[in-house]
Amino acid sequence: MKVVADTGVCQGHQLCQGEAPTVFGFDEDADVVVVLDEHPDASLRPAVVTAVKYCPAFALSIEEED
Ligand code: SF4
Repeated sequence: MKVVADTGVCQGHQLCQGEAPTVFGFDEDADVVVVLDEHPDASLRPAVVTAVKYCPAFALSIEEED
């Protein structure tokens, strides 16, 4: 999977970091999410899926790769 963040719609709530802190970071200056790990281990999938689901701005998505 590939984790994608649309920084244009991210509202800086930082909920994603709470769910998956090794995948999602934060740019304090720009006040937007930073994807730290675009290709996280499969074991992190549940946390990433939760982060995507609960992002209030719907800024996050997962692209499936072969
Ligand atoms: S939860 Fe959504 S709005 Fe909040 S920082 Fe993460 S991507 Fe941005």
